[in-house]
Amino acid sequence: MADIIQLLPDHVANQIAAGEVVQRPASVVKELLENAIDAKATSVTLVIKDAGKTLVQVTDNGSGMSVTDARLSFERHATSKIKSAEDLFNLHTKGFRGEALASIAAIAHVELKTKTEDSEIGTHLTIEGSKVISQDPAVVPKGTTISVKNLFYNIPARRNFLKSNPVETRHIIDEFHRVALAHPNVAFQMLHNGSDVFNLPSSNSRQRIVNIFGSKTNEKLVPVSEETEILKIEGFVLKPEYGKKSRGEQFFFVNDRFIKSPYLHHAVSSAFEGLMKNDVHPGYFLFLEVDPHSIDINIHPTKTEIKFDDEHSIYAMLRATVKHSLGQFNIAPVLDFERDKGFDTPYDYSKKQPTAPSIEVDRDFNPFKEKAKQGNINFPFKREQTQSWESLYVGLKDETAAVPGLGDIEFESEEVTGSLFENAETETGQTTFQLQNKYIVSPLKNGMMIIHQNLAHQRILYEELLKNITVKEAVSQQLLFPLQLHFSKLDIEIIEKVREQLEHTGFIFSELKGETIEISGIPVLILESHVVNLLHQLVHDIKEEVPDNGFSQNDMLAKSMAASMAIKTGVSLNREEREHLINQLFACKEPTVSPTNKPVFTTLDVSDLDKKFM
Ligand code: ADP
Ligand code: MG
Repeated sequence: MADIIQLLPDHVANQIAAGEVVQRPASVVKELLENAIDAKATSVTLVIKDAGKTLVQVTDNGSGMSVTDARLSFERHATSKIKSAEDLFNLHTKGFRGEALASIAAIAHVELKTKTEDSEIGTHLTIEGSKVISQDPAVVPKGTTISVKNLFYNIPARRNFLKSNPVETRHIIDEFHRVALAHPNVAFQMLHNGSDVFNLPSSNSRQRIVNIFGSKTNEKLVPVSEETEILKIEGFVLKPEYGKKSRGEQFFFVNDRFIKSPYLHHAVSSAFEGLMKNDVHPGYFLFLEVDPHSIDINIHPTKTEIKFDDEHSIYAMLRATVKHSLGQFNIAPVLDFERDKGFDTPYDYSKKQPTAPSIEVDRDFNPFKEKAKQGNINFPFKREQTQSWESLYVGLKDETAAVPGLGDIEFESEEVTGSLFENAETETGQTTFQLQNKYIVSPLKNGMMIIHQNLAHQRILYEELLKNITVKEAVSQQLLFPLQLHFSKLDIEIIEKVREQLEHTGFIFSELKGETIEISGIPVLILESHVVNLLHQLVHDIKEEVPDNGFSQNDMLAKSMAASMAIKTGVSLNREEREHLINQLFACKEPTVSPTNKPVFTTLDVSDLDKKFM
């Protein structure tokens, strides 16, 4: 029998291989965006026409290519990213197969314009169905533009297989999201049929999420952060109440590469157990970093699945970390009372007449004595501004059906002198108790009030700190031995920016430069041992802060500090402390909500109880 085996011509081999890499316009989008990232672009623009069926074009300001590289880039297995098989286990780039451009050029009309930093003149190359049509010098800016026109023009079967424009556009947007989320520091723009779809400036990860999914997203995010020897996890989960029936926003990135992993998804879902109904899926944006040697990306042609060496540990860590974040950020169910819109605006001191600060400095003040008296909790202020405690309860009694009515109570009454707990004990005989070291339960005339101790304390501290920052009346406690702390240069710069406000709260910085901070005085409100955590949390919060969400920097600062300093869940409070906390809470301007807009307390009416016994 005659020999029958022959080698397929290149263009046929390329067409067949293209089927693996390019299923639809979105595949082209993914490959081109990833090449732009690999070329270290800081700004990337995606232009599509007719859902990418007519045109997919990506322009970047990255490294560009030399004349020879421009031509070579379309050869199969032509890549600048790996040299040997070992490199596969130390990947720091998206691409490595050297197949994308060859595959795309086999099934479309492709135009490439590119120039490197140091060459005077760039290259303009056109290819159709793997055949180079022209290659000329061209005057173009540094970077690369690749235009892919008429996808599948030579494979009508594939072209007919494409879905409707809305469906294909959806796929493109999904790919765009994945790359944009993984690289928040890169600016991305997307235009479809001439109009802007996305315009994402370089930012941090939280801002990127908000810029993509809308400003409402900001308040839904719960930060997640953990670092161990084998794994670093950063990112956000959506609060349980924002889970969706359909799979909503679920993103895993491993070393900045979007991946799909039912196994890790399970880890996250199980961390939400008990917080969501069974048919609701959690939302998440989780960025995992692992040693590139410990993963294998090579098991799927389009590289959205990877294999971890130590899958079980990663599962366990992920689950624990998400659980911890949900717990730490007090994801309690939101009460559905209608909140007064006015609650949303914090203080507006600008509209108030400045009053001379009238703080009475306690000359005998001794933080240690104070601490001893109050256990390990610092109660911030010695003065109380409240009406008598009983009258609050009367107010509540009348208003139990409409808690917002509390907002109408005028708290800026005359200062009450004398001890408020004494009032409470002797005049009204109130008794309180603590539930699970988390809630303070206090009887009302018509039922009971259940106060979340951490959120209540946050509210108290927040108002006090905001006042200190704005009217600058805080008192410092001088430290016997100045605190020396070390931060990164960047973090020090951040602290420098809010230095003035921090000094208003009572901090005294004797040195703030390079990578060290020396602190010689701290606010009376806090313990020395909490300072490090507080500053770390503050820097973290400032980095994550999304501007333009209507809150001022002072507000953010007060929120962050209040969250760090507040009594945590799990701390046991004695009777005095409980009642002091309640007094302080109701001396606040907005005792009903925490600085982060969570309800601080709820009430239970006797009639509610009665119903349970019917
Ligand atoms: P891979 O990304 O797997 O290396 P590709 O076919 O996507 O393979 O690209 C081939 C080569 O072309 C890349 O390795 C890179 O050197 C070069 N290249 C592709 N796109 C760009 C770009 N936007 N900027 C600079 N170089 C590029
Ligand atoms: Mg590539």
